[in-house]
Amino acid sequence: MQRTIIVGASHAGAQLAASLRQEKWSDEIVLIGDESALPYHRPPLSKAYLADRSTLADLAIRSPDFYAKQRIHLLNATVEKVDRAAGHVILHNGDALPYDKLALCTGARPRRLLTPGADLAGVYYLRTAADVARIRVAASPGCHAVIVGGGYIGLETAASLRALGLEVTVLEATGRVLERVTAPEVSAFFDRIHREKGVNIRTDALVEALSGVGRVREVALADGESIPADLVIVGIGIEPNTDLAAAAGLAVDNGIVIDDQARTSAPDIVAAGDCAIHNMARYGRRIRLESVPSAGEQAKVAAATICGKQRKIAALPWFWSDQYHHKLQIAGLNSGYDETVLRGDPTRDGDFTCFYLRAGELLAADCINRPRDFMFSKRAIAQKLPTDRTKLSSPIAV
Ligand code: FAD
Repeated sequence: MQRTIIVGASHAGAQLAASLRQEKWSDEIVLIGDESALPYHRPPLSKAYLADRSTLADLAIRSPDFYAKQRIHLLNATVEKVDRAAGHVILHNGDALPYDKLALCTGARPRRLLTPGADLAGVYYLRTAADVARIRVAASPGCHAVIVGGGYIGLETAASLRALGLEVTVLEATGRVLERVTAPEVSAFFDRIHREKGVNIRTDALVEALSGVGRVREVALADGESIPADLVIVGIGIEPNTDLAAAAGLAVDNGIVIDDQARTSAPDIVAAGDCAIHNMARYGRRIRLESVPSAGEQAKVAAATICGKQRKIAALPWFWSDQYHHKLQIAGLNSGYDETVLRGDPTRDGDFTCFYLRAGELLAADCINRPRDFMFSKRAIAQKLPTDRTKLSSPIAV
């Protein structure tokens, strides 16, 4: 009897376990996670779950029955070490668990704010259901939340906290929200809809210190201004959990390095999800994707690899974000674009698409409340269909 151990029980880990059974792995599967809940959907944490519209049970990726029926043994534990020479993992309680195949699906953790006062009570991060439970306790209607970071997590959190009746200020260090990931027109749209909902957005706002007696009360900015705060939520990006892999001698470079079959630099170890980085031929470099669809795809490929089958990571990256009643769907990656084409008017309309091109080739599209454009873009980008700017800018979906 062989055993596959999967470290990390979230999107990648849960999918990998399920896919192993689909690939006819009939031996043991042990899925080890250090969060006490059953594997759950993470994206709703900053959306419906924070806005109090769902329960943790609603978020379960699979029912408890599923794991029992599929003979997937769930173990709530922290893996402290991978001993490759001995072929086992060591748990927090010292137990050693042998493996024949190992999958690292350790995900990522929030990047910490390093300013003075960042460790005061009332300062939160948002990565887990436990984080949200803490934020929900602190988030009473009428109180003032300061969100550090105007990326997707920060903006989704702002929308959810407004729905809960809080006053919200978003502090963004750069000149516009979503600067790292979208074109100026898309940033301007999200800036506008948040302001219309009463969010105070401050750009070029560098946090210098947090202060308060025992609990955060103020956020001091580099320009000398102080902003009162009852709670602070930090959303300034994530860092991959690569410590286990690095300590085990695997190749790590801003992520556990995998090939297009999800194999790490060790023959019997695969990795998938936010913790993994792989070379994407289309973009000519290694990229670490942070999204549920890519965690799922990499996990399926990793399961096939464990079962000795040849499958490759090839799907086009895509992503989504929900803010108020707006749905943003993103197809492809826009890095390196040299031109944008707009369909619709983001300064007026509630729906539009921003197409990103490089040397005339469609690279990516941000589709706001335009699901048909999203479907078209996914196909056009993946198949490298010829692009016609006039058609792209035409208000009628192609
Ligand atoms: P993770 O979900 O990070 O899971 C890794 C798991 O491994 C964690 O439970 C961790 O505790 C556990 N672990 C780590 N080390 C160990 C260890 N040594 N021992 C045991 N367990 C360990 N993506 C989208 O596509 N769309 C969205 O709208 C979206 N919204 C998001 C909103 C929020 C608030 C957050 C936080 C993320 C969002 N994402 C979204 C990103 C998405 O959730 C991640 O891409 C996805 O969770 C990656 O899954 P994963 O399994 O690779 O890693």
